[in-house]
Amino acid sequence: MATDTRERLVDWLQDAYAMEQEAETMMKAMASRIEHYPALRGRIEQHVEETRSQAAQLAGCLEQLGASVPTAKGTIAKGMAAMHAAGNAMMKDEVAKGVGISYAFEHMEIATYRSLVIAARRAGEAQVAATCEAILAQEQAMADWLFENQPAVIEAFLEREAADVTAKR
Ligand code: MG
Ligand code: FE
Repeated sequence: MATDTRERLVDWLQDAYAMEQEAETMMKAMASRIEHYPALRGRIEQHVEETRSQAAQLAGCLEQLGASVPTAKGTIAKGMAAMHAAGNAMMKDEVAKGVGISYAFEHMEIATYRSLVIAARRAGEAQVAATCEAILAQEQAMADWLFENQPAVIEAFLEREAADVTAKR
C-alpha cells in the first residue's frame, strides 16, 4: 500500500518531536553536571531552551495537520536519554566525550530536518517547511559552535587532568 507524502510528513514530525524530548533530557543532564567549562555549559543551556521551543513548534505543526502529538514516544525517548546520560556520567573523560556525542546528535537532527523540509514542500505545507527550516538553522548553529569550541574544551580538559584537578565535568 502506498504511503502518501502527507502521512510520511506526519510520521517524521512525530519522530522529530520524540527526538527533541530525548535531546532536552540529554542536554539538561549534561549541563547540570558541568562545573568547570562555563562556555560549554552556557551554550548547552541556551540550546535546551531552543529545544523546548522546537518541540512546541513541532506540536503546533502536528496540530495544524490534524495529527496527534506522540506523548508515549516522547516519554520512552526521555527514559532512554536519561539512561544514556547516566552512562555518559560514568566516563572519566565525560566532558570530552560529551562534546562528541552532542556533535553527533546535532547532525542526526540536521539530517532529520533536511528530510522534513523536503517532505513538507512536496506535501504542499509551506508553513511546516518554513518552521523546519528555522529549526534546522538552530541545529546547524549548535553543531558549528561545538565544532569551533571543541579544541578549547579539549585543551582545558587535558590541562586540568594533567594538573590533577577535576577535569571530567
Ligand atoms: Mg533540536
Ligand atoms: Fe539540537
